[in-house]
Amino acid sequence: MAKQTGDHCSLCGRPRKDVNLLIEGLDGCICDSCSLQAADIVKENVKDIKGKAGTKIVTADELPTPKGIKAALDEYVIGQDSAKKVLSVAVYNHYKRVFQEEKFEDDGVEIEKSNIIMVGPTGTGKTLLARTIAKLLHVPFTIVDATVFTEAGYVGEDIESILTRLLHDADMDVEATEKGIVFIDEIDKIARKSANPSITRDVNGEGVQQGLLKMLEGSTVNVPPNGGRKHPEAKMIQVDTKNILFICGGAFDGLERVISKRMNTRAVGYSSYMKQDIDRENLLKYVNHSDLRSFGLIPELIGRLPILTYLEPLDKKVLRNILTEPKNSIVKQYKKLFSLDGINLIFEDDVYDYIVDQALVHKLGARGLRSIVESIMMEAMFEIPSTGEKELRISYDYAKQMLEKSNFENMITT
Ligand code: ADP
Repeated sequence: MAKQTGDHCSLCGRPRKDVNLLIEGLDGCICDSCSLQAADIVKENVKDIKGKAGTKIVTADELPTPKGIKAALDEYVIGQDSAKKVLSVAVYNHYKRVFQEEKFEDDGVEIEKSNIIMVGPTGTGKTLLARTIAKLLHVPFTIVDATVFTEAGYVGEDIESILTRLLHDADMDVEATEKGIVFIDEIDKIARKSANPSITRDVNGEGVQQGLLKMLEGSTVNVPPNGGRKHPEAKMIQVDTKNILFICGGAFDGLERVISKRMNTRAVGYSSYMKQDIDRENLLKYVNHSDLRSFGLIPELIGRLPILTYLEPLDKKVLRNILTEPKNSIVKQYKKLFSLDGINLIFEDDVYDYIVDQALVHKLGARGLRSIVESIMMEAMFEIPSTGEKELRISYDYAKQMLEKSNFENMITT
Protein backbone atom coordinates (compact mmCIF):
# COMPACT_ATOMS: atom_id res chain seq x y z
CA MET A 1 0.00 0.00 0.00
CA ALA A 2 1.31 3.48 -0.89
CA LYS A 3 2.43 5.64 1.98
CA GLN A 4 0.03 8.43 2.91
CA THR A 5 1.23 12.02 2.38
CA GLY A 6 1.78 13.50 5.85
CA ASP A 7 3.09 10.24 7.30
CA HIS A 8 6.64 10.47 6.13
CA CYS A 9 9.33 12.80 4.81
CA SER A 10 8.96 13.11 1.04
CA LEU A 11 12.73 13.49 0.66
CA CYS A 12 14.29 10.79 2.86
CA GLY A 13 11.21 8.66 3.33
CA ARG A 14 11.53 8.34 7.09
CA PRO A 15 8.20 7.95 8.90
CA ARG A 16 6.84 10.60 11.25
CA LYS A 17 7.65 8.57 14.35
CA ASP A 18 11.38 8.51 13.48
CA VAL A 19 11.83 12.27 13.04
CA ASN A 20 11.64 15.22 15.42
CA LEU A 21 9.53 17.36 13.18
CA LEU A 22 7.66 16.91 9.95
CA ILE A 23 6.73 20.06 8.07
CA GLU A 24 3.74 19.63 5.81
CA GLY A 25 3.49 21.18 2.38
CA LEU A 26 0.76 21.01 -0.27
CA ASP A 27 1.75 17.66 -1.72
CA GLY A 28 4.35 16.36 0.68
CA CYS A 29 6.34 16.79 3.84
CA ILE A 30 9.93 17.51 4.82
CA CYS A 31 11.60 16.40 8.05
CA ASP A 32 13.80 18.58 10.29
CA SER A 33 17.00 16.87 9.22
CA CYS A 34 16.31 17.21 5.46
CA SER A 35 15.30 20.85 5.82
CA LEU A 36 18.57 21.67 7.62
CA GLN A 37 20.55 19.95 4.89
CA ALA A 38 18.55 21.77 2.23
CA ALA A 39 19.26 25.09 3.95
CA ASP A 40 23.01 24.39 3.80
CA ILE A 41 22.84 23.55 0.10
CA VAL A 42 20.85 26.71 -0.60
CA LYS A 43 23.35 28.82 1.36
CA GLU A 44 26.30 27.50 -0.62
CA ASN A 45 24.73 27.73 -4.02
CA VAL A 46 22.98 31.04 -3.61
CA LYS A 47 26.31 32.60 -2.64
CA ASP A 48 27.77 31.27 -5.87
CA ILE A 49 24.91 32.44 -7.99
CA LYS A 50 24.94 35.89 -6.38
CA GLY A 51 28.70 36.13 -6.70
CA LYS A 52 28.50 35.72 -10.42
CA ALA A 53 25.37 37.71 -11.09
CA GLY A 54 26.22 40.48 -8.63
CA THR A 55 29.61 41.12 -10.15
CA LYS A 56 28.87 41.12 -13.83
CA ILE A 57 31.74 43.35 -14.75
CA VAL A 58 32.27 45.26 -17.95
CA THR A 59 33.54 43.22 -20.92
CA ALA A 60 36.09 44.24 -23.57
CA ASP A 61 33.30 45.14 -26.00
CA GLU A 62 31.39 47.16 -23.44
CA LEU A 63 34.37 49.19 -22.24
CA PRO A 64 33.46 52.86 -22.74
CA THR A 65 35.98 55.11 -24.53
CA PRO A 66 37.82 57.77 -22.50
CA LYS A 67 35.26 60.29 -23.74
CA GLY A 68 32.46 57.98 -22.67
CA ILE A 69 33.98 57.58 -19.21
CA LYS A 70 34.37 61.36 -18.86
CA ALA A 71 30.77 61.93 -19.95
CA ALA A 72 29.58 59.51 -17.27
CA LEU A 73 31.71 61.25 -14.66
CA ASP A 74 30.24 64.61 -15.74
CA GLU A 75 26.81 63.39 -14.70
CA TYR A 76 27.86 62.92 -11.09
CA VAL A 77 30.94 65.05 -10.48
CA ILE A 78 30.97 68.82 -10.97
CA GLY A 79 34.08 70.52 -12.36
CA GLN A 80 37.46 68.79 -11.90
CA ASP A 81 37.89 68.56 -15.65
CA SER A 82 41.59 67.93 -15.52
CA ALA A 83 41.30 65.03 -13.06
CA LYS A 84 38.38 63.58 -15.00
CA LYS A 85 40.34 63.55 -18.25
CA VAL A 86 43.43 61.99 -16.72
CA LEU A 87 41.33 59.37 -14.92
CA SER A 88 39.26 58.52 -17.98
CA VAL A 89 42.35 57.84 -20.05
CA ALA A 90 44.08 55.92 -17.25
CA VAL A 91 41.07 53.74 -16.53
CA TYR A 92 40.45 53.08 -20.21
CA ASN A 93 44.08 52.06 -20.73
CA HIS A 94 44.08 49.92 -17.62
CA TYR A 95 41.08 47.84 -18.65
CA LYS A 96 42.22 47.71 -22.27
CA ARG A 97 45.41 46.19 -20.95
CA VAL A 98 43.50 43.72 -18.78
CA PHE A 99 41.34 42.58 -21.69
CA GLN A 100 44.24 42.48 -24.12
CA GLU A 101 45.96 39.97 -21.87
CA GLU A 102 42.92 37.76 -22.09
CA LYS A 103 42.29 38.17 -25.81
CA PHE A 104 45.60 38.34 -27.62
CA GLU A 105 48.59 36.10 -27.85
CA ASP A 106 51.73 37.09 -26.01
CA ASP A 107 53.90 39.08 -28.42
CA GLY A 108 56.48 40.02 -25.81
CA VAL A 109 55.19 43.56 -25.38
CA GLU A 110 53.84 43.85 -21.89
CA ILE A 111 51.88 46.99 -21.06
CA GLU A 112 52.74 47.96 -17.51
CA LYS A 113 50.12 48.65 -14.94
CA SER A 114 49.48 52.32 -14.19
CA ASN A 115 48.06 53.06 -10.78
CA ILE A 116 46.87 56.57 -10.05
CA ILE A 117 47.45 59.20 -7.38
CA MET A 118 45.14 62.20 -6.91
CA VAL A 119 46.08 65.20 -4.81
CA GLY A 120 43.57 67.81 -3.73
CA PRO A 121 41.83 69.34 -0.75
CA THR A 122 39.48 67.17 1.26
CA GLY A 123 35.87 67.01 0.08
CA THR A 124 36.58 67.96 -3.53
CA GLY A 125 35.49 64.70 -5.14
CA LYS A 126 38.43 62.27 -5.09
CA THR A 127 36.47 59.41 -3.57
CA LEU A 128 33.41 60.29 -5.62
CA LEU A 129 35.42 60.03 -8.85
CA ALA A 130 36.84 56.62 -7.96
CA ARG A 131 33.47 55.33 -6.80
CA THR A 132 31.69 56.58 -9.92
CA ILE A 133 34.20 54.86 -12.19
CA ALA A 134 33.79 51.56 -10.33
CA LYS A 135 30.02 51.84 -10.62
CA LEU A 136 30.19 52.63 -14.31
CA LEU A 137 32.31 49.56 -15.02
CA HIS A 138 30.50 47.34 -12.50
CA VAL A 139 33.80 46.31 -10.99
CA PRO A 140 34.30 45.45 -7.31
CA PHE A 141 35.34 48.52 -5.36
CA THR A 142 36.59 49.26 -1.89
CA ILE A 143 37.83 52.30 0.01
CA VAL A 144 40.55 51.95 2.63
CA ASP A 145 42.14 54.54 4.81
CA ALA A 146 45.92 54.43 4.75
CA THR A 147 46.10 55.67 8.36
CA VAL A 148 44.61 52.49 9.81
CA PHE A 149 47.70 50.62 8.80
CA THR A 150 49.94 52.97 10.72
CA GLU A 151 47.83 52.64 13.82
CA ALA A 152 47.73 48.86 13.75
CA GLY A 153 51.50 48.66 13.47
CA TYR A 154 51.59 45.13 12.08
CA VAL A 155 52.28 46.35 8.62
CA GLY A 156 52.62 43.31 6.37
CA GLU A 157 49.64 41.48 7.83
CA ASP A 158 47.10 44.21 7.92
CA ILE A 159 47.66 45.48 4.44
CA GLU A 160 46.21 42.26 3.09
CA SER A 161 42.89 43.21 4.62
CA ILE A 162 42.51 45.69 1.73
CA LEU A 163 41.97 42.68 -0.48
CA THR A 164 39.63 41.03 2.00
CA ARG A 165 37.31 43.98 1.61
CA LEU A 166 37.52 43.89 -2.17
CA LEU A 167 36.82 40.18 -2.09
CA HIS A 168 33.71 40.80 0.00
CA ASP A 169 32.50 43.48 -2.38
CA ALA A 170 32.81 40.88 -5.14
CA ASP A 171 30.82 38.37 -3.09
CA MET A 172 33.97 36.27 -2.75
CA ASP A 173 34.33 35.93 -6.52
CA VAL A 174 38.13 35.85 -6.92
CA GLU A 175 38.09 36.40 -10.67
CA ALA A 176 36.04 39.57 -10.33
CA THR A 177 38.13 40.74 -7.37
CA GLU A 178 41.23 40.55 -9.50
CA LYS A 179 39.75 43.18 -11.84
CA GLY A 180 38.55 45.51 -9.11
CA ILE A 181 39.45 49.01 -8.02
CA VAL A 182 40.88 49.92 -4.61
CA PHE A 183 40.77 53.52 -3.42
CA ILE A 184 43.41 54.21 -0.77
CA ASP A 185 42.47 57.43 0.98
CA GLU A 186 44.74 59.68 3.04
CA ILE A 187 47.87 58.37 1.42
CA ASP A 188 49.57 61.63 2.45
CA LYS A 189 49.21 60.64 6.10
CA ILE A 190 51.74 57.86 5.70
CA ALA A 191 54.40 60.20 4.33
CA ARG A 192 57.59 60.19 6.30
CA LYS A 193 58.13 63.42 8.13
CA SER A 194 61.74 64.02 7.23
CA ALA A 195 63.38 63.62 3.87
CA ASN A 196 65.82 61.10 5.35
CA PRO A 197 64.86 57.45 5.66
CA SER A 198 64.01 56.60 9.25
CA ILE A 199 65.92 54.01 11.25
CA THR A 200 62.95 52.21 12.76
CA ARG A 201 60.81 50.47 10.20
CA ASP A 202 57.39 51.88 10.81
CA VAL A 203 57.99 55.37 12.10
CA ASN A 204 55.95 57.94 10.22
CA GLY A 205 54.36 55.37 7.97
CA GLU A 206 57.43 54.54 5.97
CA GLY A 207 56.95 50.87 6.82
CA VAL A 208 53.39 51.06 5.53
CA GLN A 209 54.62 52.55 2.28
CA GLN A 210 57.09 49.68 1.97
CA GLY A 211 54.31 47.21 2.73
CA LEU A 212 52.14 48.57 -0.07
CA LEU A 213 54.76 48.22 -2.79
CA LYS A 214 54.27 44.60 -3.76
CA MET A 215 50.52 44.82 -3.77
CA LEU A 216 50.48 47.93 -5.97
CA GLU A 217 52.92 46.45 -8.40
CA GLY A 218 51.13 43.15 -8.82
CA SER A 219 51.76 39.99 -6.87
CA THR A 220 49.91 36.99 -5.56
CA VAL A 221 48.74 37.73 -2.05
CA ASN A 222 47.37 35.30 0.51
CA VAL A 223 44.21 36.96 1.70
CA PRO A 224 42.45 36.00 4.93
CA PRO A 225 38.76 35.61 3.92
CA ASN A 226 37.60 37.36 7.07
CA GLY A 227 40.46 39.82 7.42
CA GLY A 228 42.81 40.33 10.34
CA ARG A 229 44.81 37.75 12.20
CA LYS A 230 41.99 36.58 14.41
CA HIS A 231 41.27 33.46 12.42
CA PRO A 232 44.67 31.92 11.70
CA GLU A 233 42.97 28.61 10.93
CA ALA A 234 40.90 30.11 8.10
CA LYS A 235 41.95 28.97 4.66
CA MET A 236 43.71 31.77 2.81
CA ILE A 237 42.45 32.84 -0.59
CA GLN A 238 45.03 33.68 -3.22
CA VAL A 239 44.44 36.92 -5.05
CA ASP A 240 46.63 38.20 -7.87
CA THR A 241 46.81 42.00 -7.77
CA LYS A 242 48.32 42.39 -11.23
CA ASN A 243 45.06 43.68 -12.71
CA ILE A 244 43.67 45.48 -9.69
CA LEU A 245 43.67 49.23 -10.20
CA PHE A 246 44.85 51.19 -7.19
CA ILE A 247 43.81 54.80 -6.95
CA CYS A 248 45.37 56.76 -4.10
CA GLY A 249 44.12 60.09 -2.83
CA GLY A 250 45.26 62.64 -0.31
CA ALA A 251 44.90 66.28 0.67
CA PHE A 252 48.68 66.75 1.00
CA ASP A 253 48.40 69.81 3.23
CA GLY A 254 51.42 72.00 2.70
CA LEU A 255 52.25 70.57 -0.72
CA GLU A 256 51.68 74.02 -2.24
CA ARG A 257 54.69 75.27 -0.30
CA VAL A 258 56.83 72.49 -1.74
CA ILE A 259 55.62 73.27 -5.27
CA SER A 260 56.10 76.99 -4.82
CA LYS A 261 59.62 76.47 -3.53
CA ARG A 262 60.51 74.29 -6.46
CA MET A 263 59.02 76.71 -8.96
CA ASN A 264 60.72 79.71 -7.42
CA THR A 265 64.05 77.95 -7.53
CA ARG A 266 63.55 77.02 -11.15
CA ALA A 267 62.26 80.44 -12.07
CA VAL A 268 65.50 82.11 -11.04
CA GLY A 269 66.94 83.67 -14.15
CA TYR A 270 63.71 83.28 -16.07
CA SER A 271 62.02 86.40 -17.34
CA SER A 272 59.52 87.87 -14.92
CA TYR A 273 56.50 87.38 -17.19
CA MET A 274 56.82 83.62 -16.74
CA LYS A 275 56.38 84.08 -13.03
CA GLN A 276 53.30 86.19 -13.63
CA ASP A 277 51.73 83.40 -15.65
CA ILE A 278 51.72 81.14 -12.66
CA ASP A 279 48.28 80.58 -11.15
CA ARG A 280 49.24 81.20 -7.53
CA GLU A 281 45.74 80.47 -6.29
CA ASN A 282 45.98 76.89 -7.45
CA LEU A 283 49.55 75.73 -7.26
CA LEU A 284 48.50 72.08 -7.08
CA LYS A 285 48.01 72.06 -10.83
CA TYR A 286 51.81 72.20 -11.20
CA VAL A 287 52.40 69.17 -8.97
CA ASN A 288 54.93 66.63 -10.16
CA HIS A 289 56.38 63.42 -8.78
CA SER A 290 59.41 65.11 -7.26
CA ASP A 291 57.08 67.23 -5.10
CA LEU A 292 55.54 64.06 -3.68
CA ARG A 293 59.01 62.85 -2.87
CA SER A 294 59.83 66.08 -1.07
CA PHE A 295 56.56 65.69 0.80
CA GLY A 296 57.65 62.32 2.15
CA LEU A 297 56.49 59.56 -0.16
CA ILE A 298 59.25 57.09 -0.87
CA PRO A 299 60.50 56.92 -4.48
CA GLU A 300 59.53 53.25 -4.82
CA LEU A 301 55.91 54.06 -3.97
CA ILE A 302 55.83 57.06 -6.30
CA GLY A 303 57.22 54.84 -9.04
CA ARG A 304 54.22 52.53 -8.66
CA LEU A 305 51.77 55.42 -8.96
CA PRO A 306 52.83 56.81 -12.34
CA ILE A 307 49.62 58.71 -13.08
CA LEU A 308 49.38 61.90 -11.08
CA THR A 309 46.49 64.33 -11.16
CA TYR A 310 45.05 67.10 -8.99
CA LEU A 311 41.68 68.39 -7.86
CA GLU A 312 40.76 72.03 -7.59
CA PRO A 313 39.34 73.64 -4.46
CA LEU A 314 35.57 74.17 -4.69
CA ASP A 315 34.48 77.78 -4.99
CA LYS A 316 31.01 79.18 -4.42
CA LYS A 317 29.82 78.61 -7.96
CA VAL A 318 30.94 74.96 -7.98
CA LEU A 319 29.40 74.31 -4.56
CA ARG A 320 26.10 75.71 -5.79
CA ASN A 321 26.24 73.46 -8.82
CA ILE A 322 27.01 70.45 -6.63
CA LEU A 323 23.88 71.21 -4.68
CA THR A 324 21.58 71.17 -7.69
CA GLU A 325 23.20 69.75 -10.84
CA PRO A 326 24.50 66.16 -10.45
CA LYS A 327 22.16 63.34 -11.42
CA ASN A 328 21.63 62.49 -7.77
CA SER A 329 22.25 65.95 -6.30
CA ILE A 330 21.17 66.61 -2.74
CA VAL A 331 18.32 68.85 -3.87
CA LYS A 332 17.05 66.25 -6.33
CA GLN A 333 17.16 63.63 -3.58
CA TYR A 334 15.06 65.76 -1.22
CA LYS A 335 12.57 66.62 -3.94
CA LYS A 336 12.17 62.93 -4.65
CA LEU A 337 11.76 62.11 -0.98
CA PHE A 338 8.88 64.58 -0.68
CA SER A 339 7.33 63.62 -3.99
CA LEU A 340 6.92 60.08 -2.65
CA ASP A 341 4.42 61.63 -0.23
CA GLY A 342 2.81 63.56 -3.09
CA ILE A 343 4.39 66.85 -1.98
CA ASN A 344 5.98 69.29 -4.42
CA LEU A 345 9.12 70.68 -2.74
CA ILE A 346 10.31 74.06 -4.00
CA PHE A 347 13.47 75.87 -2.90
CA GLU A 348 13.51 79.58 -3.62
CA ASP A 349 16.65 80.55 -5.46
CA ASP A 350 18.39 82.50 -2.70
CA VAL A 351 18.15 79.47 -0.41
CA TYR A 352 20.85 77.78 -2.47
CA ASP A 353 23.17 80.75 -1.96
CA TYR A 354 22.46 80.70 1.74
CA ILE A 355 23.29 76.98 2.01
CA VAL A 356 26.53 77.43 0.07
CA ASP A 357 27.53 80.46 2.17
CA GLN A 358 27.00 78.46 5.34
CA ALA A 359 29.15 75.63 4.00
CA LEU A 360 31.89 78.13 3.19
CA VAL A 361 31.64 80.01 6.50
CA HIS A 362 32.01 76.79 8.43
CA LYS A 363 34.70 75.52 6.05
CA LEU A 364 32.73 72.33 5.42
CA GLY A 365 33.12 72.14 1.66
CA ALA A 366 30.79 69.92 -0.33
CA ARG A 367 30.61 67.44 2.50
CA GLY A 368 28.74 70.00 4.63
CA LEU A 369 26.00 70.71 2.09
CA ARG A 370 24.01 67.65 3.01
CA SER A 371 24.06 68.28 6.76
CA ILE A 372 22.98 71.88 6.24
CA VAL A 373 20.05 70.86 4.04
CA GLU A 374 19.18 68.13 6.52
CA SER A 375 19.06 70.64 9.39
CA ILE A 376 16.89 73.04 7.38
CA MET A 377 14.45 70.31 6.35
CA MET A 378 14.19 68.40 9.64
CA GLU A 379 11.14 70.21 11.00
CA ALA A 380 9.29 70.03 7.69
CA MET A 381 10.06 66.34 7.29
CA PHE A 382 8.51 65.78 10.70
CA GLU A 383 5.40 67.93 10.22
CA ILE A 384 4.38 67.94 6.58
CA PRO A 385 3.52 64.27 5.93
CA SER A 386 0.68 64.48 8.46
CA THR A 387 -0.79 67.83 7.28
CA GLY A 388 -1.89 66.67 3.84
CA GLU A 389 -0.31 69.71 2.16
CA LYS A 390 0.65 69.27 -1.47
CA GLU A 391 3.33 71.92 -1.77
CA LEU A 392 6.23 73.02 0.41
CA ARG A 393 8.08 76.22 -0.44
CA ILE A 394 11.38 76.88 1.33
CA SER A 395 12.21 80.58 1.48
CA TYR A 396 15.46 82.25 2.56
CA ASP A 397 13.91 83.37 5.87
CA TYR A 398 12.54 79.91 6.61
CA ALA A 399 15.89 78.25 5.82
CA LYS A 400 17.79 80.72 8.01
CA GLN A 401 15.35 80.35 10.86
CA MET A 402 15.45 76.55 10.72
CA LEU A 403 19.23 76.33 10.55
CA GLU A 404 19.65 78.72 13.48
CA LYS A 405 17.06 76.82 15.47
CA SER A 406 18.68 73.49 14.75
CA ASN A 407 21.55 71.94 16.55
CA PHE A 408 23.75 72.48 13.52
CA GLU A 409 26.31 74.87 15.03
CA ASN A 410 26.83 72.53 17.97
CA MET A 411 27.12 69.52 15.72
CA ILE A 412 30.01 70.95 13.74
CA THR A 413 31.92 72.47 16.64
CA THR A 414 31.93 69.36 18.76
P1 ADP B 1 37.36 63.63 -1.04
O1 ADP B 1 37.52 62.17 -1.33
O2 ADP B 1 38.04 64.50 -2.04
O3 ADP B 1 37.72 64.01 0.37
P2 ADP B 1 34.57 63.11 -1.54
O4 ADP B 1 34.64 62.61 -2.93
O5 ADP B 1 34.39 62.10 -0.47
O6 ADP B 1 35.84 64.01 -1.19
O7 ADP B 1 33.42 64.21 -1.46
C1 ADP B 1 32.57 64.33 -0.34
C2 ADP B 1 31.15 64.59 -0.83
O8 ADP B 1 31.08 65.90 -1.37
C3 ADP B 1 30.72 63.66 -1.94
O9 ADP B 1 29.99 62.58 -1.48
C4 ADP B 1 29.86 64.52 -2.82
O10 ADP B 1 28.53 64.51 -2.36
C5 ADP B 1 30.37 65.90 -2.62
N1 ADP B 1 31.31 66.36 -3.66
C6 ADP B 1 32.61 66.68 -3.47
N2 ADP B 1 33.16 67.13 -4.60
C7 ADP B 1 32.20 67.05 -5.55
C8 ADP B 1 32.15 67.37 -6.96
N3 ADP B 1 33.24 67.86 -7.59
N4 ADP B 1 30.99 67.17 -7.61
C9 ADP B 1 29.91 66.69 -6.97
N5 ADP B 1 29.88 66.39 -5.65
C10 ADP B 1 31.00 66.56 -4.94
